[in-house]
Amino acid sequence: MAQGHMIPMVDIAKLLASQGAIATIAITQHNALRHKAIIDRAMASGLSIRLLQLRFPSQQVGLPEGCESIDTLPSPDYSPGLFAGNELLQGQLEDSLADIEPKPDCLISDVFVPWTVGVASKFQVPRVIFHGTCCFALLCMHSIKLSGIHKGLDSANEPFLIPNMPHPIQITMDKLPGSMKKSNPAFDAFLEKVREGEESAYGVLINSFEELEPEYAERFREARQGKAWCIGPVSLCNKDEMDLAERGNKASIEKKQCLNWLDSREPNSVMYVCLGSMSRLIAAQLIELGMALEASEYPFIWVIREGESKQALEFENWLSREGFEERNKDRGLLIKGWAPQMLILSHHAIGGFLTHCGWNSTFEALCAGVPMITWPIFGEQFLNEKVIVEVLKVGYRVGVDVYVELGQEESIGIVVKREEIERGVRKLMDKSSEEYEEMKRKVEEIGEMGRRAMESGGSSHLNLSLFIQDIVNQVREKAALIQ
Ligand code: UDP
Repeated sequence: MAQGHMIPMVDIAKLLASQGAIATIAITQHNALRHKAIIDRAMASGLSIRLLQLRFPSQQVGLPEGCESIDTLPSPDYSPGLFAGNELLQGQLEDSLADIEPKPDCLISDVFVPWTVGVASKFQVPRVIFHGTCCFALLCMHSIKLSGIHKGLDSANEPFLIPNMPHPIQITMDKLPGSMKKSNPAFDAFLEKVREGEESAYGVLINSFEELEPEYAERFREARQGKAWCIGPVSLCNKDEMDLAERGNKASIEKKQCLNWLDSREPNSVMYVCLGSMSRLIAAQLIELGMALEASEYPFIWVIREGESKQALEFENWLSREGFEERNKDRGLLIKGWAPQMLILSHHAIGGFLTHCGWNSTFEALCAGVPMITWPIFGEQFLNEKVIVEVLKVGYRVGVDVYVELGQEESIGIVVKREEIERGVRKLMDKSSEEYEEMKRKVEEIGEMGRRAMESGGSSHLNLSLFIQDIVNQVREKAALIQ
């Protein structure tokens, strides 16, 4: 229940329906509201999509009404309630499925919803999982777990080479996703269920395409005995300008205002800054970032999440009373809330993206041909940084070396200083450099390959057909057995 997982799942439903399947989206009511405009448009265009709206038991788990996704929680302290509420949805989903016809032939579940194992078994359908990340990150995590190499390390910051990778990739345990580390007993028990659900899953759908990371895709597919299908970039199913503008949520800026602002800028001149849907930088860190953007002297769009900082007042004061907004009104566009990210990234004025390396954001930038500066925070973001900087070579690190779990921001403090951020922005946006030209050429080529992968005859288009065919074969085999 996070935007970075729900947004691509809605895209996957659209893609399945566009290849003739009936896609049924099971989602809680408040989350449904955020995706409704896109789903309604998809249905109106003739796609066979059904919506099963589940009631999230907010009261039962002590969450305020409407908090059904990580980004809407008042603070990370409420996460256990979100997980507990999620688990309570199993009965409702089973009842809803019992009521609909035709019944689904396959259940595609987010990896972090392990109770769907029970639902799939009740309805006797294969359960396919979706992680929301790329083959590189999946293979890294798989290889580390399989080898057990991490258990023999002296410390969490001891670098080690990830075994069985096509290229030498070095990492430290402290930069790996929380799901690979020990936590508290309750969360460890939940992760154990996730692991079991991962192992027992029939297959895996991946938001990537073969040509982007061929060796990693192949090795990961081998690891899953062939049942892993790269079907992305799924974001490219959104072609309509309204879909680009409303993806995941209603944007906090009018589409026209945003486009007018971008249209008034030179091509490749604007730095786009957005650290995803969940980041919670402290005020002091946000101020460092703002000062760096100002000092770099490039035009910028800066997305600031509502209530991003616990010290929201201190930060608001800095923005207004200390004159940041006024000084930068001609050069910077601040979006407070939800940005129409795909609309922005696909505009020719965007020259660079300062990203937290969430896989969706990373992939959207790749598809839009935009080079990046990387500021990973948590999750598998440090692995995605490696994809950008070491594997594809289409970005620079801003220089973050500290993994900050949600909720730890205050105790850790500032992780990257304004001078480093400014240096990163200047280095990336210097279009006179050969490096920029080379990065831009590479990333545009990747974007083009991604578009081809999604067209009829392209690798991802074909993989999605193969996946559907695989499920159809399962259904036939099951029917033959019954007869
Ligand atoms: N997003 C957006 N507007 C925002 C923030 C995020 O449209 O203001 C979208 C973004 O395009 C991406 C998703 O939300 O599709 C975020 O997913 P990602 O994996 O990049 O990061 P997460 O938020 O899960 O950390």
